[in-house]
Amino acid sequence: MEIKSLRSKLPNTGTSIFAVMSGLAIEHDAINLSQGFPDFPVSAKLIDRVGFYMKSGKNQYAPMPGVINLRESISGMFRLNHQARYDPETEITITAGATQALFTAISAIVHKGDEAIILEPAYDSYAPAVEISGGLVKRSKLLFPEYKINREEIAALITAKTKMLIINSPHNPTGSLLEKDDMEFVQKLTKGTDIVVLSDEVYEHLIFEKHLHQSACRFSELKKRSIIIGSFGKTFHATGWKTGFALAPDYLMKEFRKVHQFVVFASNTPIQYAIADYIKNQDNYNYLGSFFQKKRDVFAGALKGSGFKVLSCLGTYFQLLDYSNISNEKELAFAKRLTIEHGVASVPVSPFYKYGEENRTLRFCFAKEESTLLKAAEILCKI
Ligand code: PMP
Ligand code: GLN
Repeated sequence: MEIKSLRSKLPNTGTSIFAVMSGLAIEHDAINLSQGFPDFPVSAKLIDRVGFYMKSGKNQYAPMPGVINLRESISGMFRLNHQARYDPETEITITAGATQALFTAISAIVHKGDEAIILEPAYDSYAPAVEISGGLVKRSKLLFPEYKINREEIAALITAKTKMLIINSPHNPTGSLLEKDDMEFVQKLTKGTDIVVLSDEVYEHLIFEKHLHQSACRFSELKKRSIIIGSFGKTFHATGWKTGFALAPDYLMKEFRKVHQFVVFASNTPIQYAIADYIKNQDNYNYLGSFFQKKRDVFAGALKGSGFKVLSCLGTYFQLLDYSNISNEKELAFAKRLTIEHGVASVPVSPFYKYGEENRTLRFCFAKEESTLLKAAEILCKI
């Protein structure tokens, strides 16, 4: 018998759009460019390191904040890439992927009645995490079609109750970036306030042309109030490993760890040891920008002459396509029809907005073999 008085904590939340579209792709045997994961293998060298550590007995619980070797390697990586210092003992925690890190950070900071600002289209895990903590989500829209931040609107959302601003660059689902002046704006806006900036930087290495990743840690005042989130799933083509990290000044990390220990306690031990070795060599991640830029260009190039308009993509492995020349259908309906009738699965952008903005754009993941991208583009060119 069901409990009649059960009150949902997320009454308006259904199944995530990633699960819906990936499920539909499998059901209809479509080329799956929906959920963001690569269809090519993880480096054999990295897999060997995981095997090595499993065989040498690193199979029990890791320390609660993570294996110290990995915390030290991450500290070294941020010093090298951003000239930023994070103490491995007190300012870095290894998590079971970025999703857990985001949830933990939000749970640690947001109290009942607090307000958190998100920028839409927003990654789908932010708002539910705020709501589960009893917080109120305030929303500002990125400006279509380049998805730049609306500075005036964000500034106007800030009240005495604002406790968190969540930013994400390179940005999922749009592929836009926060540039240096955007980050300086965020720094100035939050200086002297009680606002913690949660900076989702899981695509930190997937950045194109001459653009630089403007990590929150590059801005000295911003660094003092920021929790930075990363994910090795994205960096090493291993989304199924669910290994990520959080960086924050010690006073914030102390609160993060209080929650972390009861959400997951510790994450996968042998993978942490293996990644600790692997990221000591910059070559193992520095190639990623040009690697994914080439895939972006193959996909966009193969769409020339199609009815789809290719929007700007400066980072991540997602390409937005505007289909307004092809159909007036709403995004979800069109994405489903593309999957079922044409055999190419994508993700509509509208579910990344609370009120379902319709710009007739779909997101396509190009973290795929060139042959997969060309096959998908050939189909799209016929529509
Ligand atoms: N943030 C963003 C912006 C993402 O795109 C993703 C997933 N790709 C995550 C967080 C979650 O990462 P993870 O798979 O490590 O949980
Ligand atoms: N982050 C991936 C995406 O944007 C998927 C994550 C998930 O399946 N929850 O597609």
